[in-house]
Amino acid sequence: MSGPRERLLAERERVASRLRDLEGDHRGVVEASRDTNADDEHDPEGATIAFERSQVDALARQARHHLDEVDAALARESAGDYGRCERCGSEIPAERLDVRPTARTCVTCA
Ligand SMILES: [Zn+2]
Repeated sequence: MSGPRERLLAERERVASRLRDLEGDHRGVVEASRDTNADDEHDPEGATIAFERSQVDALARQARHHLDEVDAALARESAGDYGRCERCGSEIPAERLDVRPTARTCVTCA
């Protein structure tokens, strides 16, 4: 039986490690592009690298955003506001928090 704090900290660790992986991938992609003749924009290889880089960027942005959400949920938890809807102030059902530990609102207000 773990409380919301443990769950959020575990979630934070999971997302932070994913972000580290993505940032590692990003460096890998950038380095790979330096090794090839990626300066030729008609080079199909260069286009693939640009595409991969934008995919990795998008995923890293999502992960960073999610990390912010987890931190905000941890701050609410510390303040004693965790699990309360930000809009109507009613309690967010535990099943919803199981699925989305970072939920700020109840289903009705979402
Ligand atoms: Zn609500």
